[in-house]
Amino acid sequence: MSECTHVPGLPRPEPAPAALTCPECAALGSHPVQLRMCLECGYVACCDSSPHRHASAHYRATGHPVVRSFEPGETWRWCFVDGSIV
Ligand SMILES: [Zn+2]
Ligand SMILES: [Zn+2]
Ligand SMILES: [Zn+2]
Repeated sequence: MSECTHVPGLPRPEPAPAALTCPECAALGSHPVQLRMCLECGYVACCDSSPHRHASAHYRATGHPVVRSFEPGETWRWCFVDGSIV
């Protein structure tokens, strides 16, 4: 589906989710629009449509490249380095 070189380097099996919502939004009293989960460490954070974009902030802080959707029924992954679904 893509040329992403980051997916093959992800841990197997995928990490367990660290939370069920974005902990940074919970601390702020903000409401995530949608959730993403880091496939490097299991960190759950809000998407780029949410006010605080904590998933992007996690990528910038850690360099962890790939998240997947944490929404029910959604399985797609996003690579921040490539800027595309992978
Ligand atoms: Zn990639
Ligand atoms: Zn958030
Ligand atoms: Zn991470």
